[in-house]
Amino acid sequence: MSVGKAIEQAPCLQSRGPECIHHPDRHLNSGAMVKTRIVLGIESSCDETGVALVRFDDLSMPVLLAHALHSQIDMHQAYGGVVPELASRDHIRRVLPLTQQVMEHSGCTLADIDVVAFTRGPGLAGALLVGAGVACAMAASLGKPVLGVHHLEGHLLSPFLSADPPQFPFVALLVSGGHTQLMRVDAVGQYQLLGETIDDAAGEAFDKSAKLLGLGYPGGPALSALAQRGNPTAFKLPRPLLHSGNLDFSFAGLKTAVLVQGKNCAQASGCNIERLPADVKADLAAATQAAIVDVLVKKSMAALQATDLKRLVVAGGVGANRLLRDQLDAACLHRGVRVHYPELNLCTDNGAMIAMAAALRLQSGRQQPSLRYAFDVRPRWPLESLDT
Ligand code: ADP
Ligand code: MG
Repeated sequence: MSVGKAIEQAPCLQSRGPECIHHPDRHLNSGAMVKTRIVLGIESSCDETGVALVRFDDLSMPVLLAHALHSQIDMHQAYGGVVPELASRDHIRRVLPLTQQVMEHSGCTLADIDVVAFTRGPGLAGALLVGAGVACAMAASLGKPVLGVHHLEGHLLSPFLSADPPQFPFVALLVSGGHTQLMRVDAVGQYQLLGETIDDAAGEAFDKSAKLLGLGYPGGPALSALAQRGNPTAFKLPRPLLHSGNLDFSFAGLKTAVLVQGKNCAQASGCNIERLPADVKADLAAATQAAIVDVLVKKSMAALQATDLKRLVVAGGVGANRLLRDQLDAACLHRGVRVHYPELNLCTDNGAMIAMAAALRLQSGRQQPSLRYAFDVRPRWPLESLDT
């Protein structure tokens, strides 16, 4: 049966808990039956539609069976940023074909799914509602429970999808388009906020600076590609809150500094900032990237020192940045700290991290899936209030 058909043929909702399915992967371990479960994860919080299947049991690290992703970058590029209404409509178009794709790649059938997880928040309300609506409809049609996942917890736990997963406890540097936070992570669901940005996120600083330089959307990858050809010391840019004595960040002033310095150069060249000579633009991009990375690395080291932990986990889209990875690697090596990153293709939003976070929460007993198919999304949802 196709995914769409399953939803169309939704039977009456049945009130029963998750059950043990007859899956070929269920195996014997020390003579005891290990119950294997499969979670389907759906991500639709912003401009990526992601779907994934993760298999887990009570003992071992959950395993990613398949995932599929559609990025809306091309669609939003013309507008220089995400258009929420277009994002929602595109999620509607993509989510079922992506689900079909994941089922085919994994060799699983809809009947193998035990739990349907979806991103409950934070994110764009309309976009979240698409994922939540589809997840609830699909779960209802299959008579299976649902589980709403916190998007940032998905990012935070995404390094568990890598070949070298971390061990608790660790310091997490969460650097995405919307968030910049340092957290102490003691276990699944045990997160203590150590510091966060008081204004723009690091990804936002990349994106806004890139926009000023006429580099298009999304700015992070474009700015860092241009920076490779530039001299990071050619411009002196501020490192906000570097010596604040706490673990907070501030990036809003940086884009203003980029604008001022860019305008000064543009005036001298008799052009506007977007038409700066290529070498000047590359220098400004390199200086911007260096300022952001410098602050992120130094604050991460301060967080490790403050917590006396020897493990760092980096998550979120900015975690794909090469300079950030190189500088964190060097600083961590120097301090005897292990550093873990998500796989490069799983740094930005994806369904695998949502399915993984759901599997880890279920495995830890921290959360039970629900047969209440109320897709009550939470566009604003602080990570610290997750379990309250
Ligand atoms: P969100 O969940 O807030 O949408 P993501 O985790 O998907 O954010 O990450 C998107 C952000 O990551 C964007 O701000 C983008 O510019 C940034 N980004 C992606 N790749 C890079 C890179 N190589 N260097 C710097 N920033 C990057
Ligand atoms: Mg994200």
